[in-house]
Amino acid sequence: MKFRVQHLQWLGGIVAAVACLALGGVSLHADLADYARYEQGSMQLARFHAVMAAANAVSAERGPANSAMGGLDSDAAALAASLQVKRQDTDRRIVEMELAVARDPATAGNLQRHLREMHERLAAGRRLVDEIAERPAAARVSRNVTRAIEQMFTAADSVLALRDRLGQEIIRLNPQMSTEIILNVTAGTLREEAGRLGSYVVMMLAAGEGGSAQFLPRFDQTLVRVTELRRILADYADAFFPNGPIEAKVAEMDRRYFDISVPHARVVAGSMVLPGSPTADTFTRNYVPGMRPVEELRELIAAASQARMDGMRDHAFRLVVLSGLLTGIVILVLAMVGMIFRNGLFRPLIIVREQIAAIARGNLAEPGPVGRVSGEIADMFRELDILRDQQRQRHRLEQDQRHMAEQLRRLSETDMLTGLLNRRALNDAAMQALAPAGGRAREIGLILFDIDHFKAINDTFGHATGDDVLRRIASSLAPFVPASGAFARYGGEEFIVLLEDASLAEAFALSEALRRQLEETVIEQAPSLTVTGSFGVAVRPAGSATRWEELVATADRRLYLAKQSGRNRVCAADAASPSLAPDADGPAAGRIADKAMRTYAARSFSIS
Ligand code: GH3
Ligand code: MG
Ligand code: MG
Repeated sequence: MKFRVQHLQWLGGIVAAVACLALGGVSLHADLADYARYEQGSMQLARFHAVMAAANAVSAERGPANSAMGGLDSDAAALAASLQVKRQDTDRRIVEMELAVARDPATAGNLQRHLREMHERLAAGRRLVDEIAERPAAARVSRNVTRAIEQMFTAADSVLALRDRLGQEIIRLNPQMSTEIILNVTAGTLREEAGRLGSYVVMMLAAGEGGSAQFLPRFDQTLVRVTELRRILADYADAFFPNGPIEAKVAEMDRRYFDISVPHARVVAGSMVLPGSPTADTFTRNYVPGMRPVEELRELIAAASQARMDGMRDHAFRLVVLSGLLTGIVILVLAMVGMIFRNGLFRPLIIVREQIAAIARGNLAEPGPVGRVSGEIADMFRELDILRDQQRQRHRLEQDQRHMAEQLRRLSETDMLTGLLNRRALNDAAMQALAPAGGRAREIGLILFDIDHFKAINDTFGHATGDDVLRRIASSLAPFVPASGAFARYGGEEFIVLLEDASLAEAFALSEALRRQLEETVIEQAPSLTVTGSFGVAVRPAGSATRWEELVATADRRLYLAKQSGRNRVCAADAASPSLAPDADGPAAGRIADKAMRTYAARSFSIS
């Protein structure tokens, strides 16, 4: 197969399209995978936050619970009511958490045990709290208060365990979310430990004298943890979510919690022996508001993590759309370039090639319209039009030349006066006729005749009339010469008729017919004039090698004989023979002549 640029273009186009599709596909696949991962991450983070919120609610419930267990009898009803409100909030958060967790079958199964345990511990804690709160302040046993608080700690621990299981699960599935999870866990733990710090003070207050000594080590331990967690959170949250509301919230937390609430708690915890210690309720009322920024910091980190994950998911989605769009655009552009090449270049090039081929074959007809093509191709078509015009001109010139050559040839073969063949043309015709056809020379007849006493005609009527006579003779006798023969002016007032495939009798008969016709030809310029001629006939038989000059010489000799024998007669033999002389009275001569005449005339010419 021949190499064609068009094929190469198609091949290149297809390869480029496939490569684009592959490239777009790979990119699209990666973007889709990213999107799916972020989408899943976003949903998991939302679930994680639901667990965090539940853990926070369980922790936060300890505040009102502590108040209810350590309040004055006069405040009992109000404290119980506020605890009830808080518990409802906790229950709502737990339901939300359970719903959120159940939505992910991958993790739900693993968490069921933790959920059950949490429910049991929370219910037990609440029972213990209620038992204490229902008693008058004086009848409350500090050991029971401590037990109730610790039971509530275990409830919180089981939600935290749940949170940690889910967090680990998420990091396993989406390692890129580790930082968010750990920051959230740290914030949640800080909030939990801050709550416990307060609870230890409540335990101390409930225990009364000696409570400080019993719980101060745990308080201090927790204080160290809280301080450490704060440091970690402040450093890493700032680094991960810089220059935002988180930084401001850390500052607020430092101001309100670490600078006021914590020192206050430490003072209360360390001064148990001093008179005027607050009740557990009063302490809680002072302490809990200072924890607000800690809780808000946790919420802010949760919201920022969620926003970050949602942002990455949305970004991945935009990349998916962009990849798809770009791939589509590239393929579209390729297709368009392919079409432009096909319609604007290759198709017109094929037409150009066809037009060039047509011009080369000599087909110069105006081609049909080609439609819209590029500028370069349009130039090519214009140049083809010019080429076609030039070719047409050349053809016209060639035709004119051929025409002129033909005219020249005719002129060179024609006798100017009579319009008959001239001597040169006659020679050519004779050479052709005499050449052997199919290996054997044909029978050729030759009639040579000379006008009688032409000098006298010239002398009597003038040279111009002599010319007219010659012209009239030609036109009068030409119709008698068969189409296969040749009629020529041999010179002056001598003429030759060349006959193909004519026997001596047939040539004689035609001579006789010509002689009679000549006799009867009327000359308009000299109506009284009767023109006669003398005829010499010679025939070369078939297969003979007689040369043209010899044949003419024979005919000329016989013409001379005819002249000598009295003119206006045909001589077809070397001695004057009465049998062939028309003037001879012998009926046989006339019969032979008539018969031959009819045969020949019927075969090859007509007499008008
Ligand atoms: P004969 O019967 O013996 O043939 O007598 P003739 O007079 O025809 O013979 P001759 O050869 O003596 O004369 C021929 C004359 O024909 C001589 C010449 O002037 C004349 N002639 C030759 N060519 C032309 C021509 O083209 N035009 C005219 N008007 N006369 C011509
Ligand atoms: Mg003569
Ligand atoms: Mg003569």
